[in-house]
Amino acid sequence: MIELRTPREIEEMRPAGRFVGEVLTAVREAARVGTNLLELDELAHRMIKERGAESCYIDYHPSFGAMPFGKVICTSVNDAVLHGLPHDYALRDGDLLSIDFAVAVDGWVADSATSFVVGTSPTPERAAADEKLIRTTEVALEAGIAAARPGNKVGDISAAIAEVAHAAGYSINTDFGGHGVGRTMHGDPHVPNDGRAGRGFPLRPGLVIAIEPWFLETTDEIYTDRDGWTLRSADGSRGAHSEHTVAITQDGPIVLTARG
Ligand code: MG
Repeated sequence: MIELRTPREIEEMRPAGRFVGEVLTAVREAARVGTNLLELDELAHRMIKERGAESCYIDYHPSFGAMPFGKVICTSVNDAVLHGLPHDYALRDGDLLSIDFAVAVDGWVADSATSFVVGTSPTPERAAADEKLIRTTEVALEAGIAAARPGNKVGDISAAIAEVAHAAGYSINTDFGGHGVGRTMHGDPHVPNDGRAGRGFPLRPGLVIAIEPWFLETTDEIYTDRDGWTLRSADGSRGAHSEHTVAITQDGPIVLTARG
């Protein structure tokens, strides 16, 4: 079911979006060479408690998950790209880390993700390849957001994202993509990272969606790690992921999870 939010409800969603941005900024800052993924999860957990917010992940147990997630952030390193389950791993120089975070504040959810390189890449070639991959997810996200306006359709967002990916030479996996966000983390409509312009659900003022391009360097195939959650590239190539929660309004898109 598609739910549309009133302008007042969209205002009420802003604190959740701001808080998600604050946590991602703090986690990014803390993610240095030698930092353990479990420390990053603990940092986010502390911030959630202090804020009186509610994790969307810790009890999350969808049909594709082997067990409840049990952590409050997703940490996907190198060939991992989505749903990375934080585990006992100290970050190394040149790791490509994607952090995904969704939380409810006062009953409203916001969802956002960011990717970055920890420390220094071992070679200039590796640095350039990672930079291109990360930057492409960011530019695709910006293109998707720009298409998130009344009068357009979901397919316009999908096509805008896909155009950026294809121009950069990446293929797209449409198994996981954007989604409606509101009282819960995942609602309708599904917002695929590839699709045909002018098709799909009409974008109306009050629709709040997460837009989340993610690409892998040299494949569009993924598999699930033995941990039951982490999604990795089939060929070991690296992945990156950028996501914002966006409210579609009469005046255009509002990025609720913008980071300062
Ligand atoms: Mg997310």
